Amino acid sequence: MSHNPQKYGLDTLAVRAGLLRSDFQEHSEALFLTSSFVYKTAAEAARKFANEEPGYLYSRFTNPTVTMFQDRLAALEGAEACVATSTGMAAIASTVMGLLKSGDHIISSRSVFGTVVPLFDQICKKFGVETTWVSASNVDEWRNAVRPNTRLLFCETPSNPLAEICDIAALAEIARKANAVFAVDNCLLTPALQRPLELGADLVIHSATKYLDGQGRVLAGAVCGSAKLIEPIYGFVRTAGPAISPFNAWICLKGMETLRIRMEAQSASTLTLAHWLAGRAEVAAVHYAGLPLHPQHALAQRQAVAQGAVVSFEVKGGREAAWRVVDAVKMISITANLGDTKTTITHPATTTHARVSQLERDAAGISHGLLRVAVGLENIEDICQDMQRGLNGG
Ligand SMILES: *Cc1c(COP(=O)(O)O)cnc(C)c1O
Repeated sequence: MSHNPQKYGLDTLAVRAGLLRSDFQEHSEALFLTSSFVYKTAAEAARKFANEEPGYLYSRFTNPTVTMFQDRLAALEGAEACVATSTGMAAIASTVMGLLKSGDHIISSRSVFGTVVPLFDQICKKFGVETTWVSASNVDEWRNAVRPNTRLLFCETPSNPLAEICDIAALAEIARKANAVFAVDNCLLTPALQRPLELGADLVIHSATKYLDGQGRVLAGAVCGSAKLIEPIYGFVRTAGPAISPFNAWICLKGMETLRIRMEAQSASTLTLAHWLAGRAEVAAVHYAGLPLHPQHALAQRQAVAQGAVVSFEVKGGREAAWRVVDAVKMISITANLGDTKTTITHPATTTHARVSQLERDAAGISHGLLRVAVGLENIEDICQDMQRGLNGG
């Protein structure tokens, strides 16, 4: 059924797309923990290595469990092809290394996952690729940043932690006119809630570490798009080696079976929490695109069926008040990770954004009163009650 996935709905694809069965006819997707594969004869090995006959060779570039993960994710994103990587950062780095060359130019939203900044500004720069940083939500800034050598537009929407929204269709149009590739990091919403390729993006990038696994077990990544664009990225992964382990691919493959149910439940709880926070006197601001008061609420609703499970908010009283909320929680996990079934809370200014200068933090809107909650699958009443403790303590 991986041959014509379009005729099936998302829930069907999530549990069946990409399924391959071995001669044992196992019902559940098998985990092929093997580094290599054997041949019946010297001639068969020669044909397979010469690409004259399909087959599995070596798990850095071909493994049936990895193939199933790639095909299933491609089906969910509505993509022709997908290549899996060891982590989300490997997916972003492999996209640049596979598609760009020295002298090329990237335009990226400023509000991207923190590690992307040194990847583009330091490592890519070392190889002669320059990056211009622009506002996520200001389409004119993107348009004005285009140069003749612009090859890649990169964004994450909604952004983390402040929930800025990029207009995917508008940026796709800018990329098309510039003859550049437009890649969207779809980690926060996943194909269960937002499908950037349908809105005109060329590539979708994932940290599968987050919601595709969804249970905080493994690190993994992937890039989806046309076969023509994925081919050179796959070529880089195959040659340079940031490949996914079959075990991690299997975890994410099975994790995706419950993706829509989890994303909808976690998004619904997050919307409830966002409304609850917005109604509290101790809270100065709430950043969640699902709230009607969010400045890009209408665009967010056009692009995605729900706004995901990350909400951030500013408490009055700065760092002291924010830390009081963190230290008062009894159930919620104090950790910077997100995309888990367990709710997490973090103070971005002193954790995820601690290495950024005060000046840059101020420019990015990461105040000392800001807290980020990534909502899991616990009862929402328990989550609110846990949050209430530290808010009341003021
Ligand atoms: C975590 C994350 C990444 C990086 O993924 P890793 O798997 O940690 O390498 C990239 N983008 C977003 C939006 C993320 O949340």
